[in-house]
Amino acid sequence: MTQPLPAPDFTYRGGELFAEAVPLARIAADVGTPFYCYSETALRRNYRDFASALTNLPASICFALKANSNQAVIRTFAQEGAGADVVSEGELRRALAAGVPPERIVFSGVGKTAEEMAFALDTGIAQINIESEPELRLLSAVASSRGATARVAVRVNPDVDAATHHKISTGRKQDKFGIDIARLGAVFAEAATLPGIEATGVAVHIGSQLLNLEPYHAAFERVAEAVRELRAAGFTVTSLDLGGGVGITYRDEAPPALDDYAAIVAETVGTLGCELVFEPGRALVGNAGLLASTVLFVKQGGERPIVVVDAAMNDLKRPAMYGAYHAIVTGREPASAETAEADVVGPICETGDTFATARPLPPVASGDLVVFGSAGAYGAVMSSSYNTRRLVPEVMVSGDRFAVVRKRPTFEDMIGMDSIPDWFDAEPDRIARGAA
Ligand SMILES: *Cc1c(COP(=O)(O)O)cnc(C)c1O
Repeated sequence: MTQPLPAPDFTYRGGELFAEAVPLARIAADVGTPFYCYSETALRRNYRDFASALTNLPASICFALKANSNQAVIRTFAQEGAGADVVSEGELRRALAAGVPPERIVFSGVGKTAEEMAFALDTGIAQINIESEPELRLLSAVASSRGATARVAVRVNPDVDAATHHKISTGRKQDKFGIDIARLGAVFAEAATLPGIEATGVAVHIGSQLLNLEPYHAAFERVAEAVRELRAAGFTVTSLDLGGGVGITYRDEAPPALDDYAAIVAETVGTLGCELVFEPGRALVGNAGLLASTVLFVKQGGERPIVVVDAAMNDLKRPAMYGAYHAIVTGREPASAETAEADVVGPICETGDTFATARPLPPVASGDLVVFGSAGAYGAVMSSSYNTRRLVPEVMVSGDRFAVVRKRPTFEDMIGMDSIPDWFDAEPDRIARGAA
């Protein structure tokens, strides 16, 4: 049993890649490729590892749905006791539908609409994180018009560089997230005058895929300092939302030890007497998922072979969007350690539709199963139907069972979303006339 991916639940057994006790080839035969596959065992283990590192802290864990919002995944974490961090009404509805109690849901995001605020207040969620003064004022207006009180945390921008990819760094001064930490006191002062607002929390989230704990240390120190200043000015602060961002292994990165992360939390904000909210996304789901696809053709490129697979950038966007690395392994265990460099690409008419360039790969041929590792986070949730490709399905494995947890839509489903304006029927000769 060898482990080709940074995930103990995806292993070769008898020369074939398995998800837990199910051969991926069996799922491929049943569902067709491409498909996402999640290991329920891995999801639960990841959650328990995260939770057990925090056992000595007054912590609630709100899974960040934007990393993976499949109902089966949310339900898995809800059964483990997780809450949810949502960033839209749609995600809020998903969390509720999957059985997350409203009192364990936090609503984040830089631009909530009045409709979203009203829906959140009506469902009675735990907390709304506001990211600007205008958003705070709108929330006040919406809450007071419904006779409700919004429990608010103010998200600060601590001006810390998370030293991650620039597209997923969120805590630098000019990043669009949060309120400049220097203005926090003024925002609490305004909040105290606004009807329908109870501001007793401070929130921070500095970025994603953090491999180094130093930026957390710096950010949490600043938050602690800000809380002391707020209290000295007479404000009550009872909760801190410390965001997510803990990184994972895609290739050979060493993710931070969760115990060290917890120690930094304890050291920086542990003595403030606040309830703590954590919002991990990637760390819970990233390595619990993979994307399986089939090799269509191997063609000769100008410099090296090009492997064309049936998955594309619409199914897994991270390589095209962030230049992200995903391990690529074959469904059948390679007979030897021999590799040759190849590019791995999808069929879409965009040069960006490239999963890997000059990647050392074992020999592959048309019809072979190939798998992209660490695809459980920001994979299926970012997928689209670009090129009128059917939205990629998702499968969950548990032991020797598997189930489709999002089915592949039909072409009729997709084309049926469009409609033709009725004036086209009223003017049947319009096209013939060359319409102008
Ligand atoms: C994206 C996001 C998270 C989750 O980030 P991960 O890197 O997936 O852990 C948590 N909180 C907020 C506010 C976010 O925007």
